[in-house]
Amino acid sequence: EQAHEEDDTQNIRIYLRLRPVARQSQLVQVLDDDRRVEITVAKDAATGIVNNQQERFIFQFNGVFVDSATQDQVFEQVAQPVVASALEGINGTVFAYGATGSGKTFTVTGGVGRYVDRGLIPRAVSHVFAAAAERPDCTLDVHVSYLEIYNDAGYDLLDPGREAKSMEDLPRVSVYEDETGATRLRNLALHPAATEEAALNLLFLGDTNRAISETPMNMASSRSHCIFTLHIASRQAGRSTVLRSKLHLVDLAGSERIKRSGMEGAPLLREAKHINLSLHFLEQVIVALQERATSGRAHVPYRNSMMTLMLRDSLGGNCRTVMIATVAPSGDQLLESVSTCRFAQRVAMI
Ligand code: ADP
Ligand code: MG
Repeated sequence: EQAHEEDDTQNIRIYLRLRPVARQSQLVQVLDDDRRVEITVAKDAATGIVNNQQERFIFQFNGVFVDSATQDQVFEQVAQPVVASALEGINGTVFAYGATGSGKTFTVTGGVGRYVDRGLIPRAVSHVFAAAAERPDCTLDVHVSYLEIYNDAGYDLLDPGREAKSMEDLPRVSVYEDETGATRLRNLALHPAATEEAALNLLFLGDTNRAISETPMNMASSRSHCIFTLHIASRQAGRSTVLRSKLHLVDLAGSERIKRSGMEGAPLLREAKHINLSLHFLEQVIVALQERATSGRAHVPYRNSMMTLMLRDSLGGNCRTVMIATVAPSGDQLLESVSTCRFAQRVAMI
């Protein structure tokens, strides 16, 4: 297998996307360069103490998408380079991070109905098969897996028996390292996808299963992380070397902060704690990877969560990692927006 060197010094690229809302708050402003956003909040909004002091935050990104940005623009700027690298044998991961309702699923999967609303996954799939059609000298082999992580346990969204079972009865997916140090998965099927349509059908099946398994609290889909993976193997005619890569598209669980009053009952609190912890562990891993890239030292704590174990060989180093932070720029979401941007800023270190 070939070794790939990335000249990029920035390990992770980070974008902000504002979703359309009925009334956008004046307190969320994209600055002229389209790379920074300014959010103003009442100083004591968090404590509820009323005063007239305001606090201004400025956050820096590789790019900011305003609410009129199209799915196509987001794909072209954010994901297309990652897909192109995946076709060259480089692993890649695209994350959507944000509070529930901020536009993660719209960004990753897309809106229902309109073709132009297709999200990153269908566009990535389409791009991969289009590239294959352009290279008749190359055989391309694509497999799909679709993993859901709920309370740090993994479930196969493409498990054929899934509809019939309750979550407790489903086999758990586990991640382990083989003799060569490669990441392997147990109980997560890799489905061959010979065509774009076959891959899209698998996406649709997984999304349907995701919706069906929503718990009585009917929040499951925003309380779990979902990782759609294209496993790509390509071989040039006449050559024996196979280039392999994984391209992960990740719809993270809602990042909203724990509101004690709204959390009714232990299961919800437990969920919220798992989500906060797993996002925290993800942040730790990404930060450690950046430290390793700059100082050469740093222990990378992959083992703390299912997600970081699963993505171990697809983050940092010779991989491409992109995060899209999503925000609903309405007046009632200002603190949430600040918290999302803060997270993005911490992992990006730009
Ligand atoms: P999340 O997955 O973060 O909880 P969703 O993607 O489900 O949020 O978005 C919440 C709602 O807003 C959905 O009805 C979705 O279709 C809509 N929406 C989100 N982003 C956009 C956008 N850029 N353009 C149009 N509608 C959007
Ligand atoms: Mg969602």
